[in-house]
Amino acid sequence: MTSLATTAVHAGREDLAALGVHVPPIDLSTTNPIPDVDSGGAAYEALATGGLPPAEGGLVYQRLWNPTVARFESALARLEGAEQAVAFGSGMAALAACLTATVAAGKSHIVAVRPLYGGSDHVLASGLLGTTVTWATPDGIAAAVREDTGFVIVETPANPTLELFDLASVTAQANGVPVIVDNTFATPVLQRPIEHGAALVLHSATKYLGGHGDVIGGVVATSAEWAAKLRQVRAVTGGLMHPLAAYLLHRGLQTLPIRVSTQQENAKRLAEWLSGHEYVREVFFPSGPLVGTQMSGPGAMIAFAVAGPDEAARTVSGVRLVTHAVSLGGVDTLIQHPASLTHRPVAAHAKPHAAVLRISVGLEHPDDVQADLDYALKDAHR
Ligand SMILES: *Cc1c(COP(=O)(O)O)cnc(C)c1O
Repeated sequence: MTSLATTAVHAGREDLAALGVHVPPIDLSTTNPIPDVDSGGAAYEALATGGLPPAEGGLVYQRLWNPTVARFESALARLEGAEQAVAFGSGMAALAACLTATVAAGKSHIVAVRPLYGGSDHVLASGLLGTTVTWATPDGIAAAVREDTGFVIVETPANPTLELFDLASVTAQANGVPVIVDNTFATPVLQRPIEHGAALVLHSATKYLGGHGDVIGGVVATSAEWAAKLRQVRAVTGGLMHPLAAYLLHRGLQTLPIRVSTQQENAKRLAEWLSGHEYVREVFFPSGPLVGTQMSGPGAMIAFAVAGPDEAARTVSGVRLVTHAVSLGGVDTLIQHPASLTHRPVAAHAKPHAAVLRISVGLEHPDDVQADLDYALKDAHR
């Protein structure tokens, strides 16, 4: 098997030499010339019901198929070890498509393990898309699964506590019910959930896959059968990824392994330093038996607790090199207060502690990030 680093650089580009180009073209056509009514109609029918483009009949319309988006999808599918992938306008659009597909199939009950990203928690808790949810503990999944359960959803590492969940245990307990793993924090560089029995792998591509804070997108890597259902939902509801976004994400994948591995090294140093800091009460950073097995390393996200909410608020306002902002996975270091921001919609009893801050470690020299955090922590505790 080709190594991940090589796949990241070359996947979705196999036909470029034959086209006489070195980088992928960006296909912006919203509509496509149709050869004749019969083959065009057949192509429309195939694409609008989630199929792949037939040999004749053209691509019809961008909401049904776009070649630039398809390149990114095929590359991401290869990295996740999935048959196919389906890209959306955002991570939330990708999750919404999974929920819509399962409701349409008559299975509107979801089993979810907290913590999840605040937006995911919100869409499930609100029932906005016609689903009901049972919040399960990692050991309570088998008991929570019902006849009408559409899927089990889990995020590992979880947001923002960086807890890890054992995917072999989750998938065994799901007992045949499809498991969706939100792999945004780990990326396929560190963890490939399909190898552990997951049916669907969800990404906010906005984060590590893009990696530069300049593109919003979402993608689901899965079987050909699930991909067809998701493409049908996408074609009908229109939660598309724009081809310019797909181009940037496809380019981002080329440096994903090297970015993630360097960001992870920087994070290890920073987590260790934070653990010994006089104003840091607790550091949350993946460790234990799942690191080195399910996940090849701890990743580059760190959470830590300071004395209280006021100190947390002052710390994020005191940084000068690091940016106080939501989102994560980019080349620059970000810090934010989950209880006020990313996890604001989460029910009070399930909300992260207000003394906790979350850092997405970037590619700056770790000494410089450390000096900035040290300044902000000391300033916040004066
Ligand atoms: C950001 C995020 C999402 C939502 O993705 P968007 O691209 O912002 O819609 C989902 N899951 C996780 C873990 C995230 O960090």
